[in-house]
Amino acid sequence: MKRREKRIFGPVPSRRLGFSLGVDIIPYKTCPLDCVYCQLGRTTDRTILRKSYVPAGEVLTELEEALGRGGKIDWITFSGSGEPTLHSGIGEMIRQVKKMTDIPVAVLTSGTLLCDPFVREKLRTADLVVPDLDAGSERVFRKINRPHPDLDFQEVVEGIAHFVSDFPGRVWLEVMLVRGVNDSPREIERIAALAAKIRPARVQLNTVVRPPAESCAKPLRLSELRAARSLMTGFLKKIPIDIVAAFGKKQGTSTHTGIEARILAYLERRPGTAKDLSVGISVPSRTVISCIARLLARGRVREKKFRGKKYYSVNNSRAPHPANHTGVR
Ligand code: SF4
Repeated sequence: MKRREKRIFGPVPSRRLGFSLGVDIIPYKTCPLDCVYCQLGRTTDRTILRKSYVPAGEVLTELEEALGRGGKIDWITFSGSGEPTLHSGIGEMIRQVKKMTDIPVAVLTSGTLLCDPFVREKLRTADLVVPDLDAGSERVFRKINRPHPDLDFQEVVEGIAHFVSDFPGRVWLEVMLVRGVNDSPREIERIAALAAKIRPARVQLNTVVRPPAESCAKPLRLSELRAARSLMTGFLKKIPIDIVAAFGKKQGTSTHTGIEARILAYLERRPGTAKDLSVGISVPSRTVISCIARLLARGRVREKKFRGKKYYSVNNSRAPHPANHTGVR
């Protein structure tokens, strides 16, 4: 019998959203962008085609089962292996989720399809939308985000601004800074000037904290992020600018079984350290470490060092690059 894809993952700890139950409605690395910093690896299907990539009914059934298991969930978050707004049924899925539960719904998106009024309409029932803006110019947009050729930078920015002006919920704008790519004072000022026009509720500064698609994508230091924030403050006036900090919540209590399966489910969406896993699946570090050792011995996961930490990712042919959107995004 064909194994059904898992569409719901977590709850995983998110740097911004606390315990987030992920809803993944797009096949692995199907995205309008191919960001150099993407922790999922390189985009395998760079597309702007909207369609029903996975059956909405299956997603909702799986979500209902996950909610039924209980546990702490702060947000239900559409994110995962690709760009969620590519799914033509996202609006209906959000509406159905709202009927199922009072837990707020977030959508993490590249923001590239918000220039389409139809997509803007579909997201209206979400509580929070987090689009990206990593460039202040077309040239840097092409360099850092490597977009689908039909995407125009100005239209993308205008689409995000248009969405913010109409959306009844909250919008947080994420800016990913990469050393030597978009971190010059000039480019940071350009990004800030655009963010000031967009007027999100918050701006969130991020940098490369997990193994990126391209090894040349390097992080900024905390002091450099602080300097970028100071530079942006002059443009953004009263809009708060957060530096997205490492997740600091304590481990929760596990009520689930199948720890190795849960480790694999987590790692299918994002690479993680043993500590990330321990917090993410609410299992003590010692247990995670011994499970990881078994999974490494069986070749189910692989290990990669990045900035002095050991990251684990799934080792299979279906997912040649380890996964998550920073959320990654
Ligand atoms: S970071 Fe997000 S928008 Fe960029 S390539 Fe990865 S999945 Fe797509």
